[in-house]
Amino acid sequence: MAVLTGVEIKNVICGLCSDHCRVQVEVNNGKVIRQFYEMKKSSKTSQKWHTVVTSCARARSVSELLDHPDRLNYPLKRISARGENKWQRVSWQEALDDIASKLAEIRDKYGAEAVAFTCDGENNCAEEYRARFQALFGTPNLAGQAQICYGVALNVALAMIGGVVHFPSINQMTKCLVLIGANPATATRFFWYQLQDLKNAGMKLIVIDPRVSESAAIADIHLQLRPGTDTALLLGMINVIINEGLYDKEFVDKWCLGFDRVVQRVQEYPPEKVAEITWVPSEKIREAARMYAANKPGIVSHNMGLEQTPNATRGFQTRYILPAITGNLDVPGGDLIMSPHPTYRFAGEVECSDVMSPEQEAKMIGSQDYPFYSSWATFHKLDENTRRVRGRRLTAYWFAGYAHTPSVWRTIISGKPYPIKALITEGTNPLLTLPNPKLVYQALKKLDFHVAIDVFMTPTCLLADYVLPAACYLEKPFMVGGDYMPSFSVGEAAIPPMYERKREYNIWRELALRLGQKEHWPWESLEEAYNWRLEPLAATFEEMAKRGGDNSPVEFKKYEKTGFGTPSGKVELTPSMLEELGFDPLPSYTEWSQGWKSPLAREYPLILITGARNRHYYHSQARQIKSVRDKSPYPLAQLNTDKTRELGINDGDWIWIETPKGKVRFKCQCTSGILPDVISAEHGWWFPEDSAEEPSLHGVWKSNINVLLDDGPEWCDPISGAWVLRAAQCRVYKAQD
Ligand code: SF4
Repeated sequence: MAVLTGVEIKNVICGLCSDHCRVQVEVNNGKVIRQFYEMKKSSKTSQKWHTVVTSCARARSVSELLDHPDRLNYPLKRISARGENKWQRVSWQEALDDIASKLAEIRDKYGAEAVAFTCDGENNCAEEYRARFQALFGTPNLAGQAQICYGVALNVALAMIGGVVHFPSINQMTKCLVLIGANPATATRFFWYQLQDLKNAGMKLIVIDPRVSESAAIADIHLQLRPGTDTALLLGMINVIINEGLYDKEFVDKWCLGFDRVVQRVQEYPPEKVAEITWVPSEKIREAARMYAANKPGIVSHNMGLEQTPNATRGFQTRYILPAITGNLDVPGGDLIMSPHPTYRFAGEVECSDVMSPEQEAKMIGSQDYPFYSSWATFHKLDENTRRVRGRRLTAYWFAGYAHTPSVWRTIISGKPYPIKALITEGTNPLLTLPNPKLVYQALKKLDFHVAIDVFMTPTCLLADYVLPAACYLEKPFMVGGDYMPSFSVGEAAIPPMYERKREYNIWRELALRLGQKEHWPWESLEEAYNWRLEPLAATFEEMAKRGGDNSPVEFKKYEKTGFGTPSGKVELTPSMLEELGFDPLPSYTEWSQGWKSPLAREYPLILITGARNRHYYHSQARQIKSVRDKSPYPLAQLNTDKTRELGINDGDWIWIETPKGKVRFKCQCTSGILPDVISAEHGWWFPEDSAEEPSLHGVWKSNINVLLDDGPEWCDPISGAWVLRAAQCRVYKAQD
């Protein structure tokens, strides 16, 4: 920390999106002036991070964010009906006493499982402490986004490969990158700059996307598929690789189980048949398969595109078969099996994922219907298998331990199979970010007790009984990583919390002390808690924040020493875990009952994809930050130019997008870069400038794309329970009003 006459430079981890950039924040006499990236050396990596931060609208808005007039500064208690936006300022003492006593009352009357949590957003919440509080409280019910955000992918990787294979570590050795449903140009900018450099140096790029995204525009091969058919496409590519003998026979013979069964299964997916399903010409499928197999090492990266489709689990199986049969696993420049930091006490050491009894864990909502994902038993099996090779436990809190979220809302409403009476919402906004928000609304209204912890009064907060003001990332320290990569980042607070804002850690701890968890919370502050986690490195939090974190060397071909972290010690192309749960262990493509081939498509002929990133926003955040909103003032939907002509719509017109669930308004962006039968609409839109009172709730129903989507069983992947965001049928017409 440099000190220059009243000016301090603090090393902070930006919490405004999941990139978690290590940044500097200039503070003058306790006032935050700006966030920037200090190029410490003129390395290309440092230059790229510099470009990421300086071109980031959110990063430039920090002084607006910190003391924005809409920020929550004091605990608020609801004093009239939910949704009327009438609040009374109360002291922390009063709020926490009352919240603790209500939670205890509900636990004593209905069981701990009657209290659920929902958490997800960024803003550096240090969620492992929420997980600790929740586990010690004794409820297995956490609702959130993990099913559609890495969770299922990681479970599949762990079941097949016995390790996390997810974050693409492309480097000069990488000869080919396959990007599935991802556009790093808008989502992960550092990766985008890396990708462009490597592409210019000769790396092959294959992009699978219905849109001509920035990434697709520079690809060697763009497979412009019908949304939701990714699994079929990947099965077609595997068919070509196997039938043309392009696989790595030596690796397959020595390390893979189930290859013969895969060979048989993919005969059902010849390129010509796959072309009919996906709309991608068969020759392009062959070309892509050959390019990937011939240019080794290669990496497959799937991000959210695959997660949010009707065959999500099957898609992940195919995605992991590709690197396994081509010998691209855990080699330099290939798909790396991530290993943990060897000594740092990462989040898994804090979250207490093993304190609940098996009986209590089994009460998790969804564990009967989706036992591959919403199940602590599955997590413990994965942990046991992988601990042998990782040497350390798995961290659950950001990929496992999630109840089936749509079922949680239904349980709140129906009281079946048991009552859920209370919800604690932390840093997330389910009325905007989950499908079927009218059902979410119904559930939120039905609750006996709802506490929301956030930095702004969101539409979800408006339906709470208490709203607690959280410190934003500038007002608290943060440590992240180490669980699934041998490095972690450490950042200090730029300033202490302003007004009466509190760090989430302190909220959980203070509730914990009131609820009999005292012995588990010896650390009075987050810094103290972090000091304990750094003890094995003989470093304090303060020292580590100056260094920014710690990196251990990355190792390759770890399986040669330990085998793979699966029950068999091999890559299970047909995962035994799926088979034991009664599922076909082989991947297959199934046409979605609600999709393009369903009768619904006659009335709703366009395919809606949602979730494509607007680079200025992170999900539903920042709509009230003027400098950010000025860059992107309206919700946008991309529609093919020929289609707009056919529909009598011009660029910039307001349009209605409609499904049987309802209709929402968007501004039309005409483009030739999307298939004619597809529309891509942004998510997360609400209007903080609109009235807070019901029915508006800050315009939550106007352009909330999730209003159009359902989350019933037919909308969920039958294995994982993940819901579909990228293949719904809709219709579009010009809005006259
Ligand atoms: S908001 Fe910008 S600066 Fe902050 S982590 Fe994300 S990309 Fe980095």
